[in-house]
Amino acid sequence: MVSKAFQPVPASEIPDEISGLRMTRQRQHIYRILLQHRDHPTANDVFMRIKDTLPNLSLATVYTCLDAMVKHGIIRQVNFDRGPSRFCPNLAEHGHFHDVTTGIIHDVKFKSGIHLEDVLDLPPGAIIKNVEFTLRGQLS
Ligand SMILES: [Zn+2]
Repeated sequence: MVSKAFQPVPASEIPDEISGLRMTRQRQHIYRILLQHRDHPTANDVFMRIKDTLPNLSLATVYTCLDAMVKHGIIRQVNFDRGPSRFCPNLAEHGHFHDVTTGIIHDVKFKSGIHLEDVLDLPPGAIIKNVEFTLRGQLS
C-alpha cells in the first residue's frame, strides 16, 4: 500500500516543508515542474525544463533533489524497462500505460470498488503491499 500521508498540493502552494523535508527553492521548482507536467519526466527532462529558470542548477543537483523527494515519499520513482528512472508526483495507487506510438506514459488508476484480490489469482494468504504495473499499447 502506498503511503497516503501526504497528498500533492497545487503547484502554486508548495509549502516550505513536506514530510519532514525542507523544500528549498530548488526543490520547490523541481516539484512544481513535476506537478505541472505529469508526463513522468526523467531527471534530464526536469533539468532541461528548469535550466532557463535556474541556470546555475546542475544536473547532479536535480538528481539529488529528486532523490531526497523520493526518500521522503513526496514523489515516486518509476522505472520502465531499462530506461532511465522517471518521476511521478501521483502518490495514489496507480499503474502506468505506456503509449508505444508517442512514448507518453499515462497514469492508470483503478476504477472505484475494484480490488486486485477480486481479479487476480493470488497465492493463498497474499497481502498486497505495493502496486506497480505497466501496460503497453497505443491510443486509437
Ligand atoms: Zn505515475
